[in-house]
Amino acid sequence: MQLIGILGGMSWESTALYYKLMNEHCRERLGGHSSARLVLHSVDFAEIEALQRTGDWPAMAAILGEAAKGLAAAGAAFLVIATNTMHRVADVIAAMSGLPVLHIADPTAEALQQAGVTRVGLLGTRFTMEQDFYRGRLTERHGLDVLVPEAEDRAEVHRIIYDELVFGTVREESRAIYRGVIERLAEQGAEAIIMGCTEITLLLRPQDSDLPLFDTTALHATAAVERALEYCRLA
Ligand code: GLU
Repeated sequence: MQLIGILGGMSWESTALYYKLMNEHCRERLGGHSSARLVLHSVDFAEIEALQRTGDWPAMAAILGEAAKGLAAAGAAFLVIATNTMHRVADVIAAMSGLPVLHIADPTAEALQQAGVTRVGLLGTRFTMEQDFYRGRLTERHGLDVLVPEAEDRAEVHRIIYDELVFGTVREESRAIYRGVIERLAEQGAEAIIMGCTEITLLLRPQDSDLPLFDTTALHATAAVERALEYCRLA
């Protein structure tokens, strides 16, 4: 199995899920005492969050690119950026480290396609919902029709991520707000929902939505293990 390089800490609440999911999937695939070979650089999220608020993407790219260089030096075969939002700077991170990035949108789109979904609602940070780096990839590379919530709903979805979920706080009121947002996306024609923020899986359970939920954390973590094992088979 190849060594997986993880850029984590954004937030550590979801990186902990990645760690668990990767190890579980590895045990499922290989059996016995198998666990995932990985190296993790977990950043200080306070630094990243402050730069997100000022929109200083080059500074964030530099921090993550340096961290990724360390993962390359440690022998990582490829990178997992354990957040949807920071894929905004995935190209710079790949160029600085020389490592390929397993883009979180790709296994997500493949799962949607396998389920026959063509029109999907996207929940995430305001960066993920509003900027083109994520929606554009789903649309242009994967041919999906992507719907995002209205402005007021986007603000609430974003607020709950940064004020609650990244602290591991799960509130019933917030769950109800997300349920309402999903209902409105369904009215617009969404056939499924992308949980396009790696902490949303802490909040939403399958019973919270009439539409199928696609969990980017689980899909990304599983795809990373599959990719690491595939390298092994090809070697
Ligand atoms: N983990 C979140 C995501 O998947 C948000 C935190 C961040 O900005 O990285 O987008």
